[in-house]
Amino acid sequence: MDFSQHLRECLDREFQRNQLLIPAKVAAVGASLCLKKAYFMAMIDHMPNAHTDVRLGREGTAVHDALAMLAVPVTYEYFRQRQRYDPSAFLEERLEEIWGRHADVVERFSNISTSDYRLTRERVEALLRGYLALVDWAHRRGLISEHVLVFPERQLISKVVKTGDEVRSLPLIGVPDVLLVDGKNSIIVDWKLRENQNNAMHCLQLAAYKLILKEALGVDPHAFLIYATPKRKETKVVSINEEPPDLKEVKTIKGKCDEKLVEIAAGALYSMAFCRNTLRALVKSGVKLKAYNPTRGNGENKYPCKYCPYLKLCVYRFSRDLPEEKARLRKEMYKLYRTALRKKSEEYANLVNWDKCVEFDEVEFAEPNVIKLVKNFSGSEKHKDIMRYSLGRTTVYVFLRDGLPYPEAGEAPKVFSPALFGRYEDDEVQYSGGRLTAYVRMVSPTFAIRWIPVYLLYKYRGAERVWKRVRVCPGQVPMNIELKALAVAENALVKHFGQEGWFLETLKNMVMAGSDEY
Ligand code: SF4
Repeated sequence: MDFSQHLRECLDREFQRNQLLIPAKVAAVGASLCLKKAYFMAMIDHMPNAHTDVRLGREGTAVHDALAMLAVPVTYEYFRQRQRYDPSAFLEERLEEIWGRHADVVERFSNISTSDYRLTRERVEALLRGYLALVDWAHRRGLISEHVLVFPERQLISKVVKTGDEVRSLPLIGVPDVLLVDGKNSIIVDWKLRENQNNAMHCLQLAAYKLILKEALGVDPHAFLIYATPKRKETKVVSINEEPPDLKEVKTIKGKCDEKLVEIAAGALYSMAFCRNTLRALVKSGVKLKAYNPTRGNGENKYPCKYCPYLKLCVYRFSRDLPEEKARLRKEMYKLYRTALRKKSEEYANLVNWDKCVEFDEVEFAEPNVIKLVKNFSGSEKHKDIMRYSLGRTTVYVFLRDGLPYPEAGEAPKVFSPALFGRYEDDEVQYSGGRLTAYVRMVSPTFAIRWIPVYLLYKYRGAERVWKRVRVCPGQVPMNIELKALAVAENALVKHFGQEGWFLETLKNMVMAGSDEY
């Protein structure tokens, strides 16, 4: 059986009952580096809601966070000044003042402070130089106007699964650093703080975002990586699979990668999670995805296995020749993983409860972290229509009519992109004189990176139609807790196998007892 047939059969058989969204970054690792590594990331590490890589470090996270807070005001400030826009002076003269305008909200609700911003300012400015050069280019080319909508850290989700003659599968979730949408035109921008041998991975990550957006908008988006590395002290803009724009202020090059590969990798990762013999089918297929033998790697220095954080786990997990006790542990762990995976899959299947969505006529920010929703009822509406707005005190996703797919009533869209999520304050729903008001409160400083930019967008573009007619749907935020807990237990056991100690014994007994339960 060839690989495409293997994937097709796996997805056809499993996807209805086992859903899994593969993070775009993970699919890119699978497409560019090692499928096994991507599998470990998908199962163990990667929180689908994380906006930065867990390994990015404090400084990298601070740079990303500062840029998320600045992208909206900087873009509209550019349009305000575009007649006399001077690229070399703009950031130097204006950035401090732009930051200062919203610093109180950012400091109050998020994890980033003004001193973080100042410490990272050099890199932030270097990256914004590339960004503004792109905005200016896109504006001059007629791709975007002052009506463009700017979405930093916007979640894109595609549940499209295609298994035609060609290998195609697309259960993907991604969060581009900035998304610009103007009508059918869209531009994806991702900040990169490191350049290394794996730039192909960055290219493929953007290729994954492009796939989702194209599915959503029907038009191929433009996508760019912006690099500002301390070593080179230069800003570089890489266009993904198209000729680079002519930007005077920064260096530009063309990035090339096989977009199809990222789709195949997403499908292959799904198949590794739910179907048997995926790697065997892959090895025989000639498809250009790599999955190394961890004990050999590639070449004399055993790249990339020698430097892989999953090396020990990988040897144990994929070995055909394990000592009996380890083999038994692995078998029992598999059972537990399957249970945790089923749970994760349920989370994805029930991510948004489309049957319970309610529509409002207006939305406004009552406070930076609270939105007020208004629904006007005419005399003909029935009590049961009004009662539908009692959603309970629950997590909700808010969809705006902002150019990205808007879920219409009675529809479970395959591609969607919530603008906000937060907690629906059911006890604060009020109805009087045909007017119903409800409130959604944004949650946790970790997620402020998502909603503060929307609040800023509202500040700059509050008068637009975007804030009319919004759809609010109950749902849940996917976590990875059970899988992570299992991975931690398994890692500890694999690393210290054969050693004595009450802790390891207890852990081993728990695994064995736990798997017996299921
Ligand atoms: S050790 Fe090698 S084969 Fe295993 S996950 Fe890492 S890179 Fe892939």
